[in-house]
Amino acid sequence: MSKGTLFVISAPSGSGKSTLIKNILASRRNTVFSVSMTTRKPRGEEKDKIDYHFVTKDYFKSRIEVDDFLEYAEYCDEFYGTPRTFVEMNIEQGNDVILEIDTQGARRIRSVCKDAVHIFVMPPSFEVLEQRLRDRATETEEKIQKRLYTARSEMTRADEYDYIVINDDLQEATMKMLSIMSAEKNKTERMKDKVSHLINKENVN
Ligand code: 5GP
Repeated sequence: MSKGTLFVISAPSGSGKSTLIKNILASRRNTVFSVSMTTRKPRGEEKDKIDYHFVTKDYFKSRIEVDDFLEYAEYCDEFYGTPRTFVEMNIEQGNDVILEIDTQGARRIRSVCKDAVHIFVMPPSFEVLEQRLRDRATETEEKIQKRLYTARSEMTRADEYDYIVINDDLQEATMKMLSIMSAEKNKTERMKDKVSHLINKENVN
């Protein structure tokens, strides 16, 4: 059986990536989302174990010590990390795994997983991003300012990614993401196992 592919999606907060990822998961078979661990508090309707594993800083640090994370980073004074076992198990079982992580985490993945596909999702403009952050009304002004500052610096790293998708129209952005994923899955390198299986089957018959 072919292994799954790791898709790394980064986007500044407020770029609309969560809805985009929901659409992708609804449209693709054998695709799972890696639920990260975080020390930040739940926002709005967010649910533990579905949106994030919400934990304390002490617990997070204890997981770092036992090498539980494929990658982790500090973002706007909170910790975020990708649980290693879930990702490795699913890739091994042939499922594609989506990581929704920041640019620091993406850099780390680039060094440990050479064949991951990296996609950066851009908001249509900085003004739209600021409006989305304000509309959700879940953060203090200080936190919003920090996120805006971080968003700007993250956007300057978009050129490190394999693909850039501008999220100005949700349907169109979803189609673009699905096309990228599908094209990547059909790359010759990733088709090798399937092709040799087909050839061998042919020989048997
Ligand atoms: P938010 O607090 O808006 O949900 O996420 C803040 C930032 O942390 C976003 O850029 C998001 O992609 C990133 N993030 C979420 N989970 C992880 C993770 O497991 N690792 C890293 N490095 N970043 C993450």
